[in-house]
Amino acid sequence: MSETLTLSHNDILCARAKKVIPGGVNSPVRACLSVDSDPIYLKSADGAYVYDMDSNPYLDYVGAFGPHVLGHRHPKTLEALEQSLRFGTSFGACTKTEVEMAEFIVKNVKSIEMIRMVNSGTEATMSSIRLARAFTGRNKIIKFEGCYHGHCDSLMVKAGSGLTTFGIATSQGIPQVLTELTFSLPFNELKPVTQVMKEQGNDIACIILEPIIGNSGVILPEIQFLQGLRALADEYKCLLIFDEVMTGFRVSLGGAQELYNIEPDLTCLGKIIGGGLPVGAYGGKKKIMEMLSPIGSVYQAGTLSGNPLAMAAGLAQLKVMTQDNAYQVLKGKTEKLVNGIKEIIKTNNYPITINHTTGMFSLFFHKNEIHSYEDALKCDTKKFTQFWKKIKELGLFWPPSQFEACFISLAHSDSDIKKTISIIETALNSIM
Ligand SMILES: *Cc1c(COP(=O)(O)O)cnc(C)c1O
Repeated sequence: MSETLTLSHNDILCARAKKVIPGGVNSPVRACLSVDSDPIYLKSADGAYVYDMDSNPYLDYVGAFGPHVLGHRHPKTLEALEQSLRFGTSFGACTKTEVEMAEFIVKNVKSIEMIRMVNSGTEATMSSIRLARAFTGRNKIIKFEGCYHGHCDSLMVKAGSGLTTFGIATSQGIPQVLTELTFSLPFNELKPVTQVMKEQGNDIACIILEPIIGNSGVILPEIQFLQGLRALADEYKCLLIFDEVMTGFRVSLGGAQELYNIEPDLTCLGKIIGGGLPVGAYGGKKKIMEMLSPIGSVYQAGTLSGNPLAMAAGLAQLKVMTQDNAYQVLKGKTEKLVNGIKEIIKTNNYPITINHTTGMFSLFFHKNEIHSYEDALKCDTKKFTQFWKKIKELGLFWPPSQFEACFISLAHSDSDIKKTISIIETALNSIM
């Protein structure tokens, strides 16, 4: 057979895309490079399933990288979107839904007294850093290794040579004058933070972190670490920023800050609050938020910010999450799946570690516990790639990197979970 006859819909789209989109993708992880594969084109999704170009179903553990806590096309979300669509898509003026969204967030996230909507998680973290710098009159910031906060210049920074030296850019095109203002320190370790604070605490505007890391796979914080950061921020009068773009409204209604009972000064949100449409938000104490334009002198704006469709979809999804013990149910589903996989690992003595919290989990191909990015880097990524390819063949849509979290939704039924455990058992038995 000639080659053109064997090209799949997916192959053809990949080839077309590569000519007109850098790498063929609009966000790098979708390229599937780290699992040695081609980008995957999907045609549709419903509930816990996604469908490829040939309509083959896959049980979905990507969840669009976080937004779909109810699964795809939840009737309430669709209904709200359809209704909103009939009234118009964007007005350049205020709408009722954005007020309702703000009220909902303020009501449910304890540390947030005021909230500003933006269009992505990146915008939320970028703007919250500007606000923290303005509020404190300081320029330097502290972040942590393995936390991802979007692609803004000041945050695309990894640790320098020494533990507490200035960071190095993780992308070309970022001015060194900016990376010199960012410290990137090891997660779950208070000592380096304490040391930087002792030396330069009066120049630090904020400490920003994912309170539960989701962007190196799931890495849980030690409670003392979070408490210690809160205490240090108070002592040196800098702001503590929780980037809950992933964990917000996923791990509980009040976010990771509710689970661990720590109040940050500012919180970044995104993903779930948009119900699958482009959204971000940042909020916190009124006296900080009132520094924002137009009442304050910190400028931040957005043509599509608070977009009515995004607000409608997000709010509909959030409302469902307040009903019928949604978070208890989600926790139960996560545990059922995770315990099932742990059983297989234990029985066969596989060198795999699982981390999880409500609604998200990671299988790390490493025998020891994973408490930091450094730990995660020890994983056998070749084994992960084999695993990923095998489970894809068997019908699971899984994040295409060892360092991305898996997401489970309320649409994942008991039989879906059973099926997943059985597929994972088959895959592991064949590759390990
Ligand atoms: C996804 C994510 C971001 C970036 O959000 P975008 O909408 O992709 O810009 C920032 N922080 C965290 C913790 C995230 O998970």
